[in-house]
Amino acid sequence: MIPNIEGRTRYSKSVKRHLKKIKPWKEGEWDKTNKNIKLLKSQLRSQLMVLQDSKCAYCGLKLNETSSPELEHIAPKGGKIRPQYIEFTFTPLNLVLACHLCNSPIKKGTVDPILQLNTNYKQCVFKIYHPFFDNPNNHFDYVGSGLGIVLQEKTIKGKDTIDMFDLNSEAHITARAKAVLYDFLSESLDSKEGENLINDILTYKK
Ligand SMILES: [Zn+2]
Repeated sequence: MIPNIEGRTRYSKSVKRHLKKIKPWKEGEWDKTNKNIKLLKSQLRSQLMVLQDSKCAYCGLKLNETSSPELEHIAPKGGKIRPQYIEFTFTPLNLVLACHLCNSPIKKGTVDPILQLNTNYKQCVFKIYHPFFDNPNNHFDYVGSGLGIVLQEKTIKGKDTIDMFDLNSEAHITARAKAVLYDFLSESLDSKEGENLINDILTYKK
């Protein structure tokens, strides 16, 4: 299930001071390896792991399960991705943890997630589901299909998000089914036995 995030991330005073000093933020600043940027990323990672209940902000799969968690800019910071929102590079509300499955689709870099831009981040109108501002239950439903679990949109925003992050890719559907099966079976089986059975079920071919 996609986590319903309550609360927000905050930077320490020294990180805030650094961010103020390097304003206006330029392209490439995020990738620097100085002490403050490293600190900022580790502060975000540890706070987001708790706020997101260790789940990917977009697909709800357990972080660390399909890949190591990636810090994802909701409004892209630049690089090859267009359009660029360099001004939101370090905005805490613009950063969530996502799994590699959600962070890698080609489409992601080609769609503008902001419909209406405002200098105040909170006043921007987003085309896609925003993990901090939206409740996932208003935009998505879960539907069983064969051995998989498919996400179904309740709103246009939900549909645009499913498209953008390819949330119904085969990898997503299988991983979601595995998570549910695992929860179900782990109640009655020991973990190794349960894991083997799940793999047998998911790879079974007639
Ligand atoms: Zn994901």
